[in-house]
Amino acid sequence: MSKRTDFVHSEKQEPHRLRTKQILQEHPEVRKLIGKNKYTFFAVLGLVLFQVAMAWVVKDRSWWIVAVAAYLLGAFADHSLFVMIHECAHHLLFKNRAANRLSGILANLPQLFPSSVSFERYHIKHHSFQGIHELDADLPNRWEAKLINNYFIGKVIWLLFYPLFQVFRINRLREIKPFDKWVALNWIAEAAFITGIWVAFGPKAILYLLLSFFFSVGLHPLGARWIQEHYLTYDEQQETFSYYGVLNHVAFNVGYHNEHHDFPSIPWNKLPQIKKTAPRYYDSLVSHKSWTRLFFRFLFDKEISLYHRVIRKDRGKVALTDESRPDMDLVAQNGHQANGQKPSAKAAAL
Ligand SMILES: [Zn+2]
Ligand SMILES: [Zn+2]
Repeated sequence: MSKRTDFVHSEKQEPHRLRTKQILQEHPEVRKLIGKNKYTFFAVLGLVLFQVAMAWVVKDRSWWIVAVAAYLLGAFADHSLFVMIHECAHHLLFKNRAANRLSGILANLPQLFPSSVSFERYHIKHHSFQGIHELDADLPNRWEAKLINNYFIGKVIWLLFYPLFQVFRINRLREIKPFDKWVALNWIAEAAFITGIWVAFGPKAILYLLLSFFFSVGLHPLGARWIQEHYLTYDEQQETFSYYGVLNHVAFNVGYHNEHHDFPSIPWNKLPQIKKTAPRYYDSLVSHKSWTRLFFRFLFDKEISLYHRVIRKDRGKVALTDESRPDMDLVAQNGHQANGQKPSAKAAAL
């Protein structure tokens, strides 16, 4: 690969819907993995309580102990909370939509920045419109890619302020409504939480939570997750990568990213079973084994820049209102056909 000055343009449609269809045809038993996991709520609760307890533990310690605790423990807890917010965004805890959204707001509290409701909105579009620059918030802005380029120091700054760069992308995604009463509730809950922690524990507790948040998504081996998922770290043929390393055990299997894109209606605890059921489809793909190795490779390898992403113009037949459930839509379509009924317009479009 040589130094890029533009994204990789693809004429093909995103790769996941086709694979979902093929796997469901060849391994119809995969459909049994689709469902909700209400016990995930206890993981949310446990992680929130852990972060509040840690904030209390470090509230009177010196600032460097606060920083080390945030890097070694807090970052992992906050990263897991991100995975929980992701589960809530896909409504994988409860059947009731509001219950999932409220669980997401709860998981978001120790992260200090109200983002769970907005994340749901933008992330679903990332699934439905992978690579469509004006809808996929996971893609960098053009100015962002140009600014960071392939420079070491640029990538350090980019990872350090990753959440900030995300905020700048909102302006690009004009078709997505950024504010409503759920977003307002998210903000109010966060403001109440921050006030409560500040009054009860003091500023160092807030500093611990703030550093945990920034490390969990940025300049930390865990930050390599964002690189792993869709950055073209091998060639230009494959645009989604899974990670099968040990940190999946503390990250609720979030590394199974190809599996998740193929089956977004399967909860975190059953993602490894997709690979086990249909190994032919996943063993043939390139995957990552170490976030730490990828983290350093991304920083030092001049042949990887923010331009190493696939973008496309073709939205397929996917409507803007799509809820990103290609697996459930296909299962419903097959069910209708088995019963001799006409498939729904949505399923027929797949
Ligand atoms: Zn997702
Ligand atoms: Zn993705």
